[in-house]
Formats: sequence, structure tokens, C-alpha cells
Amino acid sequence: MRKIAIVGGGQSGLQLALGLLQNNYEVTVVSNRTPEQVLSGRVTSSQFMFHDSLQNERDLGINFWEKECPITEGIAFTIPGPDKTKALFWEAKLESYGQSVDQRVKFAGWMKEFAKRGGNLEIKDAGPQEVDEYGKTHDLVLVAAGKGEINRMFERDAEKSPFDQPMRALALTYVKNMVPRKPFTAVSFNLVPGVGEYFVFPALTTTGPCEIMVFEGVPGGPMDCWNDVKTPEEHLAKSKWVLDAFMPLEGERCRNVELTDNNGILVGRFPPTVRTPICKLSSGGLALGMADVVATNDPITGQGSNTASKAASIYLKRIRERGNKPFDAHWMQQTFDIFWDYAQWVVRWTNSLLVPPEPQILQLMGAASQIPPLASKIANGFNNPPDYSPWWFDPGEADKMIKQIAGVAA
Ligand SMILES: Cc1cc2nc3c(=O)[nH]c(=O)nc-3n(C[C@H](O)[C@H](O)[C@H](O)COP(=O)(O)OP(=O)(O)OC[C@H]3O[C@@H](n4cnc5c(N)ncnc54)[C@H](O)[C@@H]3O)c2cc1C
Repeated sequence: MRKIAIVGGGQSGLQLALGLLQNNYEVTVVSNRTPEQVLSGRVTSSQFMFHDSLQNERDLGINFWEKECPITEGIAFTIPGPDKTKALFWEAKLESYGQSVDQRVKFAGWMKEFAKRGGNLEIKDAGPQEVDEYGKTHDLVLVAAGKGEINRMFERDAEKSPFDQPMRALALTYVKNMVPRKPFTAVSFNLVPGVGEYFVFPALTTTGPCEIMVFEGVPGGPMDCWNDVKTPEEHLAKSKWVLDAFMPLEGERCRNVELTDNNGILVGRFPPTVRTPICKLSSGGLALGMADVVATNDPITGQGSNTASKAASIYLKRIRERGNKPFDAHWMQQTFDIFWDYAQWVVRWTNSLLVPPEPQILQLMGAASQIPPLASKIANGFNNPPDYSPWWFDPGEADKMIKQIAGVAA
């Protein structure tokens, strides 16, 4: 039986580990938190996932919360105007619904399931030395530790990483009692030029259904406002202040909101970073990075968990196809390259929204408010960002796409 060690028990690590167990590998997952600590700890993400990523979980039979979790049917985009008007607005249904299951619920549940199914769950904060030890005793070591310090074992790829500093000041607020969006549930995305973005959608948390508010403040701007917040109550009050100041229509949905729990808040910032996928260990072995370790995206497009799910699915297939041959550097690089064929578009598209938009992006968003099938095309691209190529990135192609869709729609 081949032995595989995965450092990091998150979206990619646990999904892959459960898939490998089903295929009779001997699997070790190293997590720096116990399931109980995860469940009773702080939220880590807004973790909204689209259809293809959710399908990867269904395919493994690990979609344990699908029936309980509220569904999100579409995406809405608003640029607020003066006096509670909308300067720009479109909304579109997703072809299949999306969902967000609090990672506290999911990771704690998956870790327990992994141990129950015979996986070896080790609780430790692994450093380079531990990774090296796993390299000596396992056929393959994967590092799937997300944004954990240990990802520094993998070198930053400057060519693929255009930013060397955080592009947004992030905050999360998990709440209940929000007025539901009409006429259908959606990721309600709001953009205030020069200030930042706010999006909100239904989710399932430790206490049941909720809504997750995600704030993306331009650094140094008025939404980069969390430094003086000391308590959960102040965090909620600041969240409401941002909405009343910049997105009052969203503020109206929040008159009666309360935090789901005192750990349902988060503040932070990090630079989007791509890293080289292979790390040489001190005793000569190799480790392969996965998901956020090799490509950390800003949450503005809600892609990290989706990309992690897709990474886990690609890595599972590659490991199975390898049979009994060694997991050497060539195999590792090829595995990453297959992942990168997909992930490069996530990175490019996400990064395009972190800087003042190129003219063709403004043109597309404007046209989407007039042409519903274009709004639908943009909304459904979230499920598979390679679909944005080439028209999102090229003025001529954007023009062609608008004309083509408008022609069909006319
Ligand atoms: C504010 C915010 C909002 C987000 N919203 C969304 C969204 O709506 N949709 C979306 O798709 N993505 C979103 N993301 C991103 C998403 O959560 C991550 O990209 C995704 O979880 C990455 O998966 P992963 O498997 O790489 O790592 P993770 O899921 O982060 O798992 C890594 C695990 O490794 C553990 N670990 C770390 N270091 C060590 C160590 N040294 N030893 C042992 N264990 C270790 C950690 O505790 C963690 O449990 C958001 C992120 C943030 C910060």
C-alpha cells in the first residue's frame, strides 16, 4: 500500500485525503488544530463554492451538509449611486446553485470522518523538519497548509505574482436576521470605486443558517477601517457603519442583524502570491505544494476554496494514474502544470479586479446591465474562470463577445 502524507487539514488536504482513502492508500493528515479546536475557533473564510467544486465533494460522497446548507441561486452586481440609487446593476441566475459551509463545520467533520475511515490524523504544527521526516517515511509528501507560515518552504514565483503587498484590507462578519435578498438568493456584490467591495450571501455556520458579509477595503481608504476595532460588538457596529456610509441599500437589509457567535468575525490582509510547486527537503527528498500554498488569491472573486477543491481533484487523479511508479520531480512538475492550466485564469481574472479596471472590463459590466445573457455569462464564469479567456482580458475580444451575445439576444 502506498503511503502519502498531507500537511494541512483544510479544503484541499482533507478532500484529497478522503479520496485517497477510498482508493486504498495509507494516508496521514497533519493538522495544527484538533477537530474540536477548529469547531470552537474563529472563522477562517467565507468559503463560497460553485457547482463544479461542490460536485467534486459529491463525487466523493463527502457533501455531508448539502441538505442543511442554504442554496445561492445567482450573482448580483451593483455600483451604488447617490441617495440609495444604483448607478449600475445586473443580476443573473447561476446554472446550478452554490453553497457555503463554514470551514469550522466542514473541516472538523471531515477530520473526524477521515479518522473514522482509518486515516492517520496527527495533530502537530509541522515545520520544515517534520516535512523532511515525512519525506523519509512516505512515498509522497504534499503540503496543503494554506496561508500557514510553512508555505514559505516554497519559493515565491515573482513572474507569476504581480503584487508584493496586500491589495485589500479584509473583514468577515457572520450574521443572522438579515433581510433576504429578492427576487432570488444571490451573492450580492457591491463595488464602490476607490473605496472597495462588499459581498454577502447565505451560508451554514456552527449555529445553523446565516449570512456572511465580506468586506474588501482598498488599503489606506475609508473601508480600511478595522484597526481600532477591539470587540465583536465593535466589529458588528463597524460592519453596519461601512454599509450605511457606502452601500445604504445593503445597510437596510441589516437593521436587525446579530453576530452568529463571537468567533464569527475576522480581519486580515495578505498579498496574492504564486509559489514554485516543488520544495527540496534537507535530506534530499521532495515535497509538492497544493492549492493556497502554490496559488493564494485575494478573496475578491471567492475562488480559493473552489481552486483548492479543483487542485485536490487533479492531484487525486494524477496520484492514481501514477500506479507504483515514483513520485519524482518530473511527475510533480507535470501535476502542478495541469493544475496551473486551470489556476492561471483564476489568478489573472482575480488580479484584474484588484487594480482600477481596464476599459473593456468597464464596458462588459456596463453592457451586462443591458444584455441579460451577458450578465449570465459573467455570473457563470465564477464556476470556471478559464471561460473568461480571452474576452475579459482583451478589448477587441470583449467587443466581439458583447456584439455576439447582443446579436443572439436581439
Ligand atoms: C476573508 C476570506 C474570505 C474567503 N472567501 C472565500 C470564498 O468565498 N470562496 C472561496 O472559494 N474561497 C474563499 N477564501 C479562500 C479559501 O478559504 C482558501 O483559499 C481555501 O481554504 C484554501 O484551501 P487550502 O486547502 O489551500 O488551505 P486551507 O483550507 O486554508 O487549509 C489549510 C489547513 O492547514 C492547517 N495548517 C497550517 N499550517 C500548518 C502546519 N504548519 N502544520 C499543520 N497544519 C497546518 C491550517 O490550520 C488549515 O486548517 C477566502 C479567504 C479569506 C481569507
